[in-house]
Amino acid sequence: MPARIALDHCPLCARDAASAETLYAGPPGGVGIRRCRGCGLVFATDFATAEELGADYGARAERDVEVSAAATAGGHDRPGIARKRARVALYDRLSHGRIGRPHPGSRALDIGCNTGLLLDVLAGYGYATAGIERSPAAAQAIAAGHRILRVDIEGADDLGERFDLITLTHVLEHLRRPVAALQWIGRHLAPGGLLVVEVPNFADVARPLWGLKYRALELGDHLSFFERATLEEAIARAGLGLVELWSAPQASTLLFPSLLSGLDLGLAGLRRLRPRRAPATAHDLGARARGGGRIGRVVEPLLGALDRADPWLEERFGAGCPWGANLVAVVGAG
Ligand SMILES: [Zn+2]
Repeated sequence: MPARIALDHCPLCARDAASAETLYAGPPGGVGIRRCRGCGLVFATDFATAEELGADYGARAERDVEVSAAATAGGHDRPGIARKRARVALYDRLSHGRIGRPHPGSRALDIGCNTGLLLDVLAGYGYATAGIERSPAAAQAIAAGHRILRVDIEGADDLGERFDLITLTHVLEHLRRPVAALQWIGRHLAPGGLLVVEVPNFADVARPLWGLKYRALELGDHLSFFERATLEEAIARAGLGLVELWSAPQASTLLFPSLLSGLDLGLAGLRRLRPRRAPATAHDLGARARGGGRIGRVVEPLLGALDRADPWLEERFGAGCPWGANLVAVVGAG
């Protein structure tokens, strides 16, 4: 059983967790989910210790480094770059074209940059790029030409520099003090600078089908489960100003988390039969797919085909659809 720490306060408003409403009790000794009666944030009852997460992230990142190094050696774009470009194009659209037209000398910071793929795209737009990454994947980001900074964004550290664009994608939900992190970002934005925050949406239409087995919940790893209202609340509490909040459904995020959740159940069965050969979880399978290789060659074109349905989905259900799988907020300083 992994070592866990109980979350005794709501990560957003600090109200006593014992007073929160139980949404899922969780198995004995496992992680459940509660909703704060004060601010409405949904949050985990427990989270894994940093040591345990560090070991897990380290193992994942080493695989990424191996694959990416092989890819750059061939002089080609790194695997996954096309979908990152599409993501940055979405951020640019939501910023009304501001992100895609940086003034000369603009700086971009990606917090939790992993191997630096998002920074590759931003460098292509003309930004001077920097990332924050604690895992061994940082070595790959450095090899790709990005600066790596070491700082605790939930603390009081000041980097002594300001950024025209800061991106925080799939990071906020892991943090014990999300408002403190957003305040840190506010202090590091240049005048007129923008922040892009992306998090999974707890109101995801597929989530109730799977309950606690839904892959995208990443129980023990994610502390907060944001919805439109609570992400807005976090941004307001940090003294920042919301520019756009997008949550349109997308074909890949409509299908893939459920597919992975189903695979998890199937792989658990497979492991009982062939313990050595089966991937540990669907997440590992997903990491192999993103890293390229045989699985990646199958999955990437499939994802690309699914992506082509997205404009139709956004037109049909709207950019403010409450049940899309991801929330993207474009945010300005106060
Ligand atoms: Zn709360």
